[in-house]
Amino acid sequence: MYRDGARKSIWQEEIRKFSTETDFQQLFDVAVVGGGITGVSTALKLQESGKKCILLESANIGFGTTGGTTAHLNTFFDTPFGQVSKDFGADGAKLYAESGKEAIHIIETFIQKYNIPCSFTRKAAYLFALDEKQEKQLKDIVEGATEVGIEMRYTNDIPFPIPFRVAVIIPGQGQFHPIQYVKGLCDAFLQLGGSIVENCFCEEHTEHEDDVVLKTSKGEIRAKNVVYATHIPPGLNILHFTNAPYRSYAMAFSLKDSKYPWELGYDLSEPYHYYRIQEINGENLLIAGGEDHKTGHAQDTGECFSKLENYVRQYFNVETVYYSWSSQYYEPVDGLPYIGKLPGSKGKIWAATGFRGNGMIFGTLSSQILHDLIVHGNSRYENLFNPSRIKPMAGFSDFVKEGMTAAFDFIKDKISVEKIESFSEIKAGEAKVIQYEGSSYALYKESDGTLHLLKSTCPHALCEVRWNSAELSWDCPCHGSRFNVNGKILTGPTTKHLQKIFPYQKH
Ligand SMILES: Cc1cc2nc3c(=O)[nH]c(=O)nc-3n(C[C@H](O)[C@H](O)[C@H](O)COP(=O)(O)OP(=O)(O)OC[C@H]3O[C@@H](n4cnc5c(N)ncnc54)[C@H](O)[C@@H]3O)c2cc1C
Repeated sequence: MYRDGARKSIWQEEIRKFSTETDFQQLFDVAVVGGGITGVSTALKLQESGKKCILLESANIGFGTTGGTTAHLNTFFDTPFGQVSKDFGADGAKLYAESGKEAIHIIETFIQKYNIPCSFTRKAAYLFALDEKQEKQLKDIVEGATEVGIEMRYTNDIPFPIPFRVAVIIPGQGQFHPIQYVKGLCDAFLQLGGSIVENCFCEEHTEHEDDVVLKTSKGEIRAKNVVYATHIPPGLNILHFTNAPYRSYAMAFSLKDSKYPWELGYDLSEPYHYYRIQEINGENLLIAGGEDHKTGHAQDTGECFSKLENYVRQYFNVETVYYSWSSQYYEPVDGLPYIGKLPGSKGKIWAATGFRGNGMIFGTLSSQILHDLIVHGNSRYENLFNPSRIKPMAGFSDFVKEGMTAAFDFIKDKISVEKIESFSEIKAGEAKVIQYEGSSYALYKESDGTLHLLKSTCPHALCEVRWNSAELSWDCPCHGSRFNVNGKILTGPTTKHLQKIFPYQKH
């Protein structure tokens, strides 16, 4: 299985192709675009209801963030209940609290119904404060959770060798192997008569009175409804201005003393660290994650791994680092996901995005919401997660801040590119955005001297891309589009590659 980065995640040992022979001439009830947890769950839910569905994936199932997640299953989220209560009212916060339980129930039901071996396990989670500021934050989190009926109990012990001030235990959480799970859902979807087409990039749509025509790299597809389960919808949409791309880093370690913590763990640092274990080939590994930052905003993304590793080594008896990988997620400006009708659509195009670090839950919940909207015309979450909502009160300063950052990225990169006289100034393994004879380019030199020269302007909204040394990709800081060293799209929202000037082989 491939992923949208150069590093291998712990889930990537699973190798399987899913594409089926599909007649593109037929009219589908629903075309679901994107083969991550959101797309696959949604396609299966709709197919179960008798809808004729096709699932289209630009690369392979699990290529996106679902292949780079850490797959904790939580009923508490990155946006605390108290904050949601303030911004969306007490009823909004209660519904938000129900969503986690509902999503884990959907996952359990799918696993039982389709007999999916994916090491799903119920666990408790520990949330712990490392300093006074975090202690106050934890108190607020617990108060907010108590008001919406999510149990958090103070405890004096945590199963992690990390000194803490205050901690709570949260029962009823879980974990699983996300790719084994998603692949099990794909098998079930195919058995119910669904179609999967991998290596099929969806470029654009035209929404008519009766159907939507999707232009794809494999030809046109007609469907009564289209669901963009692409993590962020392609093209230009208001959702690109209400969601900001972030990256998070994860590593998997073996421990010398075999003291693997069984439960899930999270501190309250900014950004926070998260922990779980996973058995791979009969051996336990500790997965730790953190070091998040806005996409394109780390000078050297490789350093994020060193920082994370050093942090983990302070507390755990680390033997070997087996895996290290990073991936992208989207931060919504008001803290809640956007799930429902795509803004600007006449009512046949749907989207799900803005999951923060809780996309196993909200991706799964999207399947129920989008199913209910398409099949029944309504969902109880319709208003709370409405993608067209603009809440000036909720997170308004963040909204302005994100907009300003995007604008700053746009202007700053136009004036801060380096000038070089000759390509020989670039060292092997180095990448730069450079000014050359009046234009700016993204230049990468491989260790064998091969030069890759691309125009550095992201075709999506004309920002300048930045180098991600950890995953060998060019990342756009504005809306999260990512490209490989040849300029080929790894991640939308762009639907166009970076313009390639040349790969140049040094003799
Ligand atoms: C390091 C990290 C750890 C995380 N840990 C957790 C966790 O512990 N618990 C949790 O709940 N959440 C976690 N998350 C968040 C969660 O992993 C994501 O929100 C979730 O995987 C998103 O799933 P998705 O299906 O919406 O998107 P993706 O998995 O990104 O899938 C989208 C798919 O769409 C395809 N695609 C895109 N554009 C097109 C196009 N134009 N045509 C065709 N196909 C297209 C892509 O190739 C991709 O396969 C984590 C995120 C990160 C980065």
